This record gives sequence, structure tokens and C-alpha cells, in this order.
Amino acid sequence: MKALIVDGQNNHDWKGTTPHLKKHLEATGLFEVEVATAPEKGDMSAFKPAFKKYKLVVSNYNGADWPKETQTAFEEFVRNGGGFVSVHAANNSFPDWPSYNQMIGLGGWGGRSEKSGPYVYWEAKAAKVIRDIAPGRGGSHGPQHEFPVETREPGHPIVAGLPLKWMHAKDELYDRLRGPAEKLTVLATAFSDPQKSGTGRHEPMLMTTTFGEGRVFHTALGHAGRNAKPEAQQCVGFIVTFQRGAEWAVSGKVTQKVPADFPGSEKASLRE
Ligand code: ZN
Repeated sequence: MKALIVDGQNNHDWKGTTPHLKKHLEATGLFEVEVATAPEKGDMSAFKPAFKKYKLVVSNYNGADWPKETQTAFEEFVRNGGGFVSVHAANNSFPDWPSYNQMIGLGGWGGRSEKSGPYVYWEAKAAKVIRDIAPGRGGSHGPQHEFPVETREPGHPIVAGLPLKWMHAKDELYDRLRGPAEKLTVLATAFSDPQKSGTGRHEPMLMTTTFGEGRVFHTALGHAGRNAKPEAQQCVGFIVTFQRGAEWAVSGKVTQKVPADFPGSEKASLRE
């Protein structure tokens, strides 16, 4: 199946992570991957990827608004059944594009606030998703650290068969994400520790939504700073959930086996 990674602007190391994402998508044996790179600055009017040639679009993009025609083409692609995967800071993009925010369900920064939608987190005692409409910012994180990721929908194909709790490599733990969250399923969360400037809540890390006929997988994981080791994306938990999320986005199922190096609850597992 043909897949497209979109990049070109991102306050992260997109030049390093796009080849990494491409390699791991192709390693599934399911995808042939091309890349569409937007201009780094200036006139965006010529940026018009032919989305409908693909089954899957992965966004590694966080930057200037796309031209209206490109936005419309992307909406049609997903509405008509195209798969979409949003990686980490791709959920910072496009705070003022309503359809995009429906697709990602939740986003952060870019002026997001209660006007963007509820702050969504997981209430562990009641074992349910809370949609908090109280005023507040949308998007924050403390210093990077290793943290466990906990499955909340163990029957969902993307996470079925994975350990219920696995240690993620050093990453930014996004908190207080906000958005329309209309068709949102929270697959996995991480506890945002107040000792790490966190919220004291279980924050969504892996999510799905639908938009028209299209399925969306949203991973908030995967920080990769410029001139830093991209540990968060080298994490086997990141790689495997990304690969499984991509397959689910195009087909609604997952045929991939869980690899032997998948992390357990105590120790992160990295592939260099
Ligand atoms: Zn980041």
C-alpha cells in the first residue's frame, strides 16, 4: 500500500525522524512510502500533495497553514476512507482548522484553550475518560523522562496483545491536550507526575478517532529535538504502536506480531 509522510516544517528534528518513520513503516512489509516536503518558509501555495494516490498519510508536520485547496484535498482524503497518523508535534499544528482538530481529536499549543474543546484525561478510579470543560491552557509538558504507558482499551487491535504497562524511553509527556474529542478513543495513557511538573493526571498518549469513513491514529509520543538522540522514537514501544496504528488506520485491523524486544513494565527497550 502506498503511504505518504508529510514534513517540511516542525520545531522538531523532522529531517532526522522522517527517514526513521519511513524505515519502520516499510519494515512492516505493508507500505511503500513517499515523502512530501512543504517549503520551510515563505509561499506555500505550490504545496499540493496528491493525497488520494495513497492509502495512508503520516504527518510529521508542525508549521504554517496549508493552502485552502490542500486542506480541502486532505479533508476529502480522510473523509473518503484514507488512513491518517499524527505523530507527536503534528498535534500542535493548525489550531484554527476545525476539520483537522476533529481528525486529531486533541491538540496542544498554538493558542489552544477551553475554546478548542475539553481537556481530556483518564480517571483511574472510575476507569473512564473525563472531558473537562473548565477554562485552561491546551498543551504543556515537563522535562523529558522515561515513563510507563498504560493500556486502557486492551481489546483494541492496535494494543491487543501488548503488555498492559510498558516503559517508554525518555520523552516529553504531553499534558492538558484539548480538542473537539468527538469520536475519540483513548487507547493508552501515561501518568503526568507532579514531581516532573506534571498534572497529576493520566494523560492520553495513544488515541484513535474517525472522520467520515477515515480512521485516524494519534500518537502523542515521539519527541525528537534537534541535535539530540531521538530516544523517544527509538523506543520499541513507540515503533511498534506506530506500525500497528498505521495498519489499523488503513484496514481497521492489525496483523503484525508483537516483537520479542517489546518493553516490559520496568525497563525501556530501544533500537538504535
Ligand atoms: Zn516535542
